Amino acid sequence: MKLISIISPVYNEEKNVSLFFDELSAILLQLPEYAFEIIFVNDGSNDASGDEIEKLVKSHENVKHVEFSRNFGKEIAITAGIHNCNGDACIMIDADLQHPIELIPEFINKWENGADVVVGVRKTNSGEGIIKKVGSILFYKIINNIAEIQVLPNATDYRLLDRCVINEFNRFTESSRMTRALIDWLGFRREYIYFHARKRLHGEASYNFWKLLKLALSSFISLSLLPLKLAGYLGTLITLISGLAGFYILLGKYFFHTPFASTFSDAENLAILIVFLVGIILMSVGLIALYIANIHAEVINRPMYVVRKVSNKIENK
Ligand code: UDP
Ligand code: MG
Repeated sequence: MKLISIISPVYNEEKNVSLFFDELSAILLQLPEYAFEIIFVNDGSNDASGDEIEKLVKSHENVKHVEFSRNFGKEIAITAGIHNCNGDACIMIDADLQHPIELIPEFINKWENGADVVVGVRKTNSGEGIIKKVGSILFYKIINNIAEIQVLPNATDYRLLDRCVINEFNRFTESSRMTRALIDWLGFRREYIYFHARKRLHGEASYNFWKLLKLALSSFISLSLLPLKLAGYLGTLITLISGLAGFYILLGKYFFHTPFASTFSDAENLAILIVFLVGIILMSVGLIALYIANIHAEVINRPMYVVRKVSNKIENK
């Protein structure tokens, strides 16, 4: 019998956990030919989510609770779930009931038909603000222009991964990460499932504007070296322009005595010289940045998350 791991990140979802579990159980009952394990990664919730999950652990052998020592963010929570799963495939799904649980059989179906990665793509998100919408359009425009890989707009974290993808995914060590971008980077045979996201049932979306902006920035930085190289480009541009201008004025004023070049005062000449030097400094910064980029790629080695405890009925016995 094939084992499928359901991975669900939980951050302050006390009202959603048991509802989610009930809906999930109902769907999984329709798939008796598979065994399931359900992994809740409790991402440092400060409400009763942990207790709700513990209740499920006590009454169900296939529920696992991975509890973080603090909030590490959804990207890391999903990652921990993937690290801790034993399935032949895993399905990651939000605990807030926004990802339609009833599509799980479809994900499994596509997997059985040969897909290594099945990606849930959102068509609409009921109740999403204009800032989030515009922000996400901008984000995908920019990242697809500067990143090394293509990121499909509206592709969500609602995904199924085959064991071979899980094993490769587990080799990533960076802790500043956007999980779905890393999965896209891996490649493999992929299939897509389109869905309408539901409204959040209880609680607030904890991804507010700033959290999303931070995620966007860290994705730019981890997927592209452009921000780092920017100083270098800027410096080259400034050096070129001010260098040419300085050269023109110098020759015009002291050798050819052209009227236009002679109108520049000493102060203005000095200003051009300073701008030229700033350009050179920025170019050097850009060069240093390239070295930092290499070091950055090598040293990211801090533990990604800290687990307070893992509880599971069978393992606890
Ligand atoms: N989540 C998490 N850690 C966080 C924020 C969110 O584990 O720091 C979980 C949350 O409990 C939910 C999922 O990630 O199951 C999606 O979060 P949310 O609904 O806030 O994001 P959105 O639906 O706006 O993408
Ligand atoms: Mg949500």
